[in-house]
Amino acid sequence: MGTKRVTEASEAVQTTRLSRMYIDGKWMDSLSKKTRDVLNPATGECIGTVAEGGAEEAEMAIRAARRAFDEDGWPERHARERAELLHRVADLLEENAEQFAVLDTLNNGKPLRESRYDAEDAANQFRYFAGLATKPKGQTYDVPDDMQAMVVREPIGVVSQIIPWNYPLVMATQKIAPALAAGCTLVIKPAEQTPLSLIRLFELLDEAGLPAGVANLVLGAGETVGAVMSRHPLVDKVAFTGGTDTGIAIMKAAADTVKKVGLELGGKSPNIVFADADFETAVDYALFGIFSNQGQVCSAGSRLLLEKTIYDRFIAELAERAQQITVGPGMDESTEMGPLISEEQMNRVLSYIEIGKKEGASLLCGGYRLTENGLEHGFFIAPTIFTDTKPDMRIVQEEIFGPVLVIQTFETEEEAIRLANGTRYGLAGAVFTSDGAKAQRVIRKLRAGITWINTYHPTFNEAPWGGYKQSGIGRELGTYGFEEYLETKQINVNLNVQPSGWFQKK
Ligand code: NAD
Repeated sequence: MGTKRVTEASEAVQTTRLSRMYIDGKWMDSLSKKTRDVLNPATGECIGTVAEGGAEEAEMAIRAARRAFDEDGWPERHARERAELLHRVADLLEENAEQFAVLDTLNNGKPLRESRYDAEDAANQFRYFAGLATKPKGQTYDVPDDMQAMVVREPIGVVSQIIPWNYPLVMATQKIAPALAAGCTLVIKPAEQTPLSLIRLFELLDEAGLPAGVANLVLGAGETVGAVMSRHPLVDKVAFTGGTDTGIAIMKAAADTVKKVGLELGGKSPNIVFADADFETAVDYALFGIFSNQGQVCSAGSRLLLEKTIYDRFIAELAERAQQITVGPGMDESTEMGPLISEEQMNRVLSYIEIGKKEGASLLCGGYRLTENGLEHGFFIAPTIFTDTKPDMRIVQEEIFGPVLVIQTFETEEEAIRLANGTRYGLAGAVFTSDGAKAQRVIRKLRAGITWINTYHPTFNEAPWGGYKQSGIGRELGTYGFEEYLETKQINVNLNVQPSGWFQKK
């Protein structure tokens, strides 16, 4: 991708409005006129000022979504019509892919090569769920007594969708596309830090002809907008991606009205390397597992479990390779790792590094903020690796959500499994070995929803995404993710219409 196209996309981004909410088919500023500055984490500079909504806007959006569902006929539209709309959105996403990549890189900091991948993924999600919209749903049952029993699937209703900042576009599209395909209506809120690509996506939804009220965008804080979205009685389901503690609060808020909840939460995922693994491949994916997207990935391989016999050779190579990673602004095509999302997140990660040192772990490399060579105003941390860890250390147990890898060691398969499962999380995990049976044995024992053998990170829109234990409830993506937006109704039909005679006519 040439510099010219990046420049064109940046200019186009600056000429879009990208500042307002979209409620009931109309663009609006916040009623209070409050705004929020949006920063570029590579420079600390303000790159936009957006409306800051509150409880009132959340209420308006939920009411619009309710009306669109109950009165305006969105769920009754033919599945084919909904699919066509989703395909139009996918076309528009593809046409504007470079703009979306630039927006997410400017706003989130991730390297362009990653945000380009995300833009492509977002279009693919719309296409995938457009396809599912028209596929058969439901069953019939062979039952006695001249009856026909059947199951039909219906859209769940109004859905609140609350997302984090680490994949601003893709977190949104993997919630919006299945909801629309299923016939639900929705209100979505991006993370405070990263609203830009989602605002642009709503411009495309509008252009594609989405009816008023079907999808609504509210900007604002979790404690105000998010809280209303989680507890409002007119909402049928909350789909949330974010931290485990926030997920717990949301589940409690949703409990009073017995909403369906889908939770995609945090992780501390183990990457297990046996001595018989292909050495170069295992080193390569250990780096990719933790340092892609600056380690701000829920499924990051943030704990590396090494078999003792390869420990010395492995960590020597790993440290050398980690120090070769090119850290810089995401807009620079040569950048391999960008800044963290915010000063607050950078300080959080730095404080975990201090905790690790105090707990007695040893720094193999990194462990500091990068401020040289034009990085001084951004939120950059050097790729960091800790050795000499103990299983109960906070840096081993808690999600750091940054470029910090902790190394654990094991001697037997049983010990590897025990250590791997030894946190409150259960999102992801991987095993590297050239013994096929051992790979299967170990992966089947991992208490995690997303797993890999001899690779780390690749997942696909066709397959279900979600966690065990405190990493979540439910699944997104694939047919499993689609099902989460559908209710299940049984219909029993009498094929022999005559009185049952249960109570005698006297
Ligand atoms: P966060 O939980 O702080 O915020 C996520 C969203 O929730 C934001 O939009 C925020 O405004 C909103 N929110 C905050 N408090 C709220 C409340 N009381 N009620 C309603 N909404 C509220 O998470 P974050 O820091 O933005 O993202 C990082 C976390 O997300 C990490 O823990 C990461 O593992 C997790 N994550 C999980 C997945 C997954 O698929 N499992 C994917 C990406 C990120």
